[in-house]
Amino acid sequence: MSEKTKIVLRSGKDDALKRFHPWVFSGAIKKIYGPVHDGSLVEVFSNKDEYLGSGLYQDASIAVRIMAFAPDRPELLNNDFWYKKLLNAWQLRESTGLTENKNTNVYRLVHGEGDHLPGLIIDHYNGNLVIQAHAIGIHNYRNEIAEGLRKIYGKNLKSIYYKSKDTLPGNFAQSNEVEGFLFGDASSDIVLEYGHRFEVDFVHGQKTGFFIDQRENRKLLAEYTKNRTVLNTFCYSGGFSVYALGAGASFVESLDSSGKALELAEKNVQLNFHQTNNHTVIQADAVQFIRENKKAYDVIILDPPAFAKHTNVRHNAVQGYKRLNAEAIRQISPGGVLFTFSCSQVVNMNLFKSTVIAAAIQAGRQARVLHQMTQPHDHPVNAFHPEGEYLKGLVLYID
Ligand code: SAH
Repeated sequence: MSEKTKIVLRSGKDDALKRFHPWVFSGAIKKIYGPVHDGSLVEVFSNKDEYLGSGLYQDASIAVRIMAFAPDRPELLNNDFWYKKLLNAWQLRESTGLTENKNTNVYRLVHGEGDHLPGLIIDHYNGNLVIQAHAIGIHNYRNEIAEGLRKIYGKNLKSIYYKSKDTLPGNFAQSNEVEGFLFGDASSDIVLEYGHRFEVDFVHGQKTGFFIDQRENRKLLAEYTKNRTVLNTFCYSGGFSVYALGAGASFVESLDSSGKALELAEKNVQLNFHQTNNHTVIQADAVQFIRENKKAYDVIILDPPAFAKHTNVRHNAVQGYKRLNAEAIRQISPGGVLFTFSCSQVVNMNLFKSTVIAAAIQAGRQARVLHQMTQPHDHPVNAFHPEGEYLKGLVLYID
């Protein structure tokens, strides 16, 4: 008999779990039998006492993240459990040609729920791995996770950096060791993405160091930038700028509010090109810059951070996207294109599209949708967890 703490759901609240949705919200819990702490492994049962799955508990709105659905009933989450889960994620990347790729050695290895590992993100940078925990339960298993990764990557592994200060609850992050090397000590490296070189600083950079999720969209941008003038706003480390320059853009301006980001962008341009006098950086608030700017560009990229993190601020976010896009569309030369993105999970593609179309109307310009963009396959969306789909983008041709 298992001694594990048992969580019983309210009647009717078991449907989501039976459909393999991996979250139990606190409101769905009827009763907890036994002790629970943040991070405890618990077993979840329906109101009719059917075993549904085992998961990690946290005293928060998402109260349990399911790590194994019935009939699986792990006694504990041991090294073997993590190794198998991580290997499954690695095999998916292998099957899509990412694990041994001459031109690209940066990819997401684990995308949380999309890889059946709720609360866990792992990014791979040329043999260096960065682990990010979004739940205390995951934090507690960081060493087992690192062990599994060492087994999978073997001698190809350079370092494992654990980086969860910004993703774990604030009070927990303050009183626990939530950053540091679990293997090796390489804090930055030069990675390749479709043959473009980027220096990634895992320790000091934003998120895990690089926005891997824009890889395919950066590649698409290259098709539109030959002999074109480009404004890359919210540029971070200059991903889109490097692709635009590589494709023969006549001039690229990289804009970000962060001076550190712009230093990285300049460095990355220099890493790829001898001639860099057709690139410049602008430190500014993108919204204000675009509002006040009078110059026209052939291509503008808008890749802001999530304007809305919750549905209660969705309306304001939508208004923000609309204003920003309308101002940008006004500044695009006839025959130019807008690459516009939203990474707010609560703004879905339909809402984003109607917002951008409303922006084109406001700008008084004819617009045609050429592409709809999303996150790449190393950021898979679990079919039973549509919340995992967060990145959306449009390419608009502006007449
Ligand atoms: N396009 C980037 C990722 C963008 S991340 C890439 O491909 O790598 C969002 C960026 O927006 C961050 O670098 C952040 O510093 C910047 N940012 C946030 N608020 C901003 C603002 N108001 N104006 C300009 N940049 C901003």
